Amino acid sequence: MKALQYRTVGAAPEVVTVPDPEPGPGQVLLKVTAAGVCHSDIAVMSWPAEQLPFPLPLTLGHEGAGTVAALGDGVTGFAEGDAVAVYGPWGCGSCWMCAQGKENYCLRAAELGIHPPGLGAPGAIAEYMIVDSPRHLVPLGALDPVKTVPLTDAGLTPYHALKRSLPKLVPGSTAVVIGTGGLGHVAVQLLRAMTAARVVALDVTEEKLALARAVGAHEALLSDASAAASVRELTGGRGAEVVLDFVGAPPTTAAAGAMAAVEGDVTIVGLGGGTLPVGFGALPYEVSVTSPYWGTRAELVEVLDLARAGAVDVHVETYGLDEAPEAYERLHAGRIEGRAVILP
Ligand code: NAD
Ligand code: ZN
Ligand code: ZN
Repeated sequence: MKALQYRTVGAAPEVVTVPDPEPGPGQVLLKVTAAGVCHSDIAVMSWPAEQLPFPLPLTLGHEGAGTVAALGDGVTGFAEGDAVAVYGPWGCGSCWMCAQGKENYCLRAAELGIHPPGLGAPGAIAEYMIVDSPRHLVPLGALDPVKTVPLTDAGLTPYHALKRSLPKLVPGSTAVVIGTGGLGHVAVQLLRAMTAARVVALDVTEEKLALARAVGAHEALLSDASAAASVRELTGGRGAEVVLDFVGAPPTTAAAGAMAAVEGDVTIVGLGGGTLPVGFGALPYEVSVTSPYWGTRAELVEVLDLARAGAVDVHVETYGLDEAPEAYERLHAGRIEGRAVILP
């Protein structure tokens, strides 16, 4: 079969032919119907060899949807032809965190060599993929796999990130979304669907700001040195109760801290290497800063239910498997509107 692989540290990913995978005991083989392209892959492909926690070559794609093509020995609960989405943050399934459905925070994944598909295990940007356990499958039902596959990360990650802040997002509050790309343009929609907050979006081009407005942002501003002051002004000096930073670079984390309200939440989702100082006087009083990773399986089910209710409409650009390297180039250059989805 054809697959998109990251083969050499620092090189662009390539479409290659690899052996057709076969499911072992307990595994499920999917015929991939759609696979999302995430900026985290670009971060991974920028790491030096010593930082890579898995060997190459790696089939990319940690957002996957497909139809069940074959069941390994002992697998029950699914049948050939079932349409499913893949819950990507695989864990051991039995540690303290996994027992709560929080496989994204599995305590034993590193020790056991368990990696998400596309981030260590063979990923979804291929004609077929292996899913290690039916526990990682969520039925799609009538949902369109192309529009839905980004929700497995670009939906689940912002959903998890903002869910802990829901009590602060009361009427009259403000939520800021920094970076309205794949994750951010879904975050805006989740905030609108789940809260009464005023939603302010920040990005670096007018095209991205237009998308943010189109998906429901009340205000959309250029993300520059004056962004924090603009948010303070828009909020009558109060600042934003919740700031979700989907860039996470030094200038955006600094701005996020500076625009937060007293008792606000600053949530750094982007992998841009920015940090925030804590300690008396470093931030407004009682600001809490956190950096979450992906989300729980139960939250993925909730996000798909929101999509079924019509509350989330992911903007997708579609590419064939042969065009997948181009999708990565465009993402790197900031030229994707919403999420790029590969149709193998
Ligand atoms: P994306 O490229 O689709 O979106 C990023 C957006 O940020 C783009 O619209 C870009 O124009 C904008 N941007 C760039 N610089 C900016 C700045 N200075 N101010 C405001 N906006 C700016 O990327 P994505 O796939 O949505 O991923 C977003 C980030 O989240 C990446 O860093 C990715 O690695 C990370 N991520 C983290 C997790 C997690 O679990 N923590 C999960 C998925 C992705
Ligand atoms: Zn991702
Ligand atoms: Zn575990």
